[in-house]
Amino acid sequence: MDMQAIVSELRRLYPDARPALIYRSPYELLVAVILSAQCTDERVNKVTRELFKEHNTPERMLTLSQEALEGYIYSCGFYRMKAAHILSASRDIVQKFGGEVPRDHAALMELAGVGRKTANVVYSVAFGGDAIAVDTHVFRVSNRLGIAAGKTPEEVEKGLMRALPQEVWSQAHHWLIYHGRRVCHAQKPSCAECTLNGMCAYFAAHGKS
Ligand code: SF4
Repeated sequence: MDMQAIVSELRRLYPDARPALIYRSPYELLVAVILSAQCTDERVNKVTRELFKEHNTPERMLTLSQEALEGYIYSCGFYRMKAAHILSASRDIVQKFGGEVPRDHAALMELAGVGRKTANVVYSVAFGGDAIAVDTHVFRVSNRLGIAAGKTPEEVEKGLMRALPQEVWSQAHHWLIYHGRRVCHAQKPSCAECTLNGMCAYFAAHGKS
């Protein structure tokens, strides 16, 4: 597999790839990423536009009860769990980190309610750290291309870190999401139109879809 050719093509295809979530601070990004699990970015942006009017810091978020926060985020799905995670992470940020989202990856991982994917997104997108967050698109496209095969997001993350030069880790997350949304769809990938098909393990095995 020509990794350099795959990276060049992804860079050519998606030069302006960036997060679709709207945020104005690391804290807003953290909350938006928690809300984005099993939910579209468009829906999250609608919800946070209202939520962040009054509750865009951990201190202000903690003025909401669990039920009141659920009322704001109901339409994102899994709203009970997400509200609990947002409140517990906010509590940790206030009590352990002086109200600021920690810049350190290990500290981000320690926040209650913050999983590995959320920590990686905040670390790389908000703070410019080298990490690759593996969401459903990154997981699927990496496995299909064959650049990082794995049964779990963590296995794929490790595979991508081995396969890709460190300086593109953070961009690669966005490239693979764009490719998954626009071309390499979950149900029916558009392999015939995909400019990566000559380098793709899935296409080599299955041919045109
Ligand atoms: S060739 Fe098909 S499976 Fe491979 S990356 Fe492109 S769309 Fe996805």
